[in-house]
Amino acid sequence: MEQKLYDQFGLSEKVIALANQAEQQVKEQFAEVEKRCEVNTLKVLNAFQKNHISEIHFSSTTGYGYSDIGRDTIEKVFAEVLQAEDSLVRSQFISGTHALTVALFAMLRPNDTLLSIAGKPYDTLDEVIGIVPNQSSLKAYGVSYEQIDLLDNDFDYEAIKKRLSQKNVKLVEIQRSRGYALRKSITLDKIKKVIETIRQVNSEVIIMVDNCYGEFVETTEPTQIGADIMVGSLIKNLGGGIAPNGAYIAGKKELVELAAERLTAPGLGKEVGPTLGINKSILQGLFFAPSVVASSLKTAIFASKLLENLGYQVQPRYDEKRSDIVQTIEFGAPEKLIKYCQGIQMGSPIDSQSIPEPWDMPGYTDQVIMAAGAFTQGSSIELSCDGPIRPPYIAFMQGGLTYQYGKLGVMKAVEQIMSK
Ligand SMILES: *Cc1c(COP(=O)(O)O)cnc(C)c1O
Repeated sequence: MEQKLYDQFGLSEKVIALANQAEQQVKEQFAEVEKRCEVNTLKVLNAFQKNHISEIHFSSTTGYGYSDIGRDTIEKVFAEVLQAEDSLVRSQFISGTHALTVALFAMLRPNDTLLSIAGKPYDTLDEVIGIVPNQSSLKAYGVSYEQIDLLDNDFDYEAIKKRLSQKNVKLVEIQRSRGYALRKSITLDKIKKVIETIRQVNSEVIIMVDNCYGEFVETTEPTQIGADIMVGSLIKNLGGGIAPNGAYIAGKKELVELAAERLTAPGLGKEVGPTLGINKSILQGLFFAPSVVASSLKTAIFASKLLENLGYQVQPRYDEKRSDIVQTIEFGAPEKLIKYCQGIQMGSPIDSQSIPEPWDMPGYTDQVIMAAGAFTQGSSIELSCDGPIRPPYIAFMQGGLTYQYGKLGVMKAVEQIMSK
């Protein structure tokens, strides 16, 4: 009977045996993930209780959205969980890129310099910054951009110190997750160390962390260790697979206010923004988020071990410390990358009958293949896998609302790359 179910899903005995072997080999790592999950769960539960969350906070506003008690309380809860002074949690943010854009335009003015100290930022920021020309970029408004590359997966502390003892840098950007780059995610220990280094020479510069994919992976967040402002997406970690869209900005009160005045209008700030029925979903998403992030991490650790056993280069390895939910697998050739992504799609609950193909996606430089059979379009806290079609043909996989769905999706993808 059981065997029939696996047959129906299209898994061979060989892949099932390989998967169970890999799962046995990662028991210790799974236990560590569960432990961190409990700590993050406590953070959420304490924040709900401290803010007396009750049914009234599930109510909603329309129109201008004045006096939305649910929205205002959600922002207190997020601030509490992230140990930030304040937060802006809005469905009017279209995406993580939009929230990062709002934050950058809110804090940078003509003749200022934006300094990225973790190499080139995420691909979708190229046109925002003006690395790729755009008439509405920061560069077009007179904001210049400089970058200091990572050295051996760590910050170039000397170069950072030297540049920040000179003038004009208004904002330092640190991207925690690896994005589409061949580097590791940056652990909170390292972020803490670099913030301390920056503060030795410069007390004024705004330190902003792109926290996308990072929330609840460790048990501390950047705003707890001295970052001034931090940005993330709600169709990633903190949305818990429940939030229908949106993003957040959290940090110093005056910086959150600047961001609010950029998102809405000067003089309006945080006071407006209708919630149109999503307050309960935002709260419920945050409630599930620690567990969903843990499921994503277990899916990633499992895939890492299984594909390593099959001879592929993976990053991170199953027993390495993680600071984001992204798992990469190097395929070395476009066909296997495409097949793996197609297998992830075939293993999804939604749109499993669609076959993804590489396409020219707005905001990205190379063709990209994306597998996402998700309840929420584009959600990458749900099991999803994508990769730019460029050597060395790396799949970037993330998400998994539950570990079992994640595991089965990965098995289905492995089945595809193993079949002729
Ligand atoms: C996802 C992500 C973003 C923003 O992406 P959106 O798709 O616009 O939400 C920015 N930076 C990093 C590191 C990301 O992972």
